[in-house]
Amino acid sequence: MAEEVEKARFAGPGGDTIFGKILRKEIPCNFIYEDDQCVAFNDISPQAPTHFLVIPRKPISQLSRSEDSDEQLLGHLLIVARKLVKDLGLTNGFRVVVNDGPDGCQSVYHLHVHVLAGRQLGWPPG
Ligand code: 5GP
Repeated sequence: MAEEVEKARFAGPGGDTIFGKILRKEIPCNFIYEDDQCVAFNDISPQAPTHFLVIPRKPISQLSRSEDSDEQLLGHLLIVARKLVKDLGLTNGFRVVVNDGPDGCQSVYHLHVHVLAGRQLGWPPG
């Protein structure tokens, strides 16, 4: 079993996460974008030539635990993803992924939008 899947099987919501530490700048991280609602940074283990994450400042553990009142924020994450893709000149397409829960292979329980680009991606995902 791949290391990521193994990690995700034993991860779960609750408490602080590595992304909380990144947001509070307790762990150094180069933000490629930030505003009052979210930040974006490159994934430490990129799965494509471009692989960055957009995360809300609000500590929502996962998409399935977001609330109806998060509608604007959730939309904002996608709009920021779209703008960054454009700014990076990625004109040949990209993929947005939100992993949720053990079956979704989520390993960090702070909601994040993966954006992958720069190579031909396969489908279906594993
Ligand atoms: P998930 O599996 O939860 O959808 O994705 C979590 C992602 O966070 C993974 O792609 C992983 O490589 C990335 N990640 C985990 N820890 C760090 C970190 O400390 N810094 C950065 N930049 N990315 C991280």
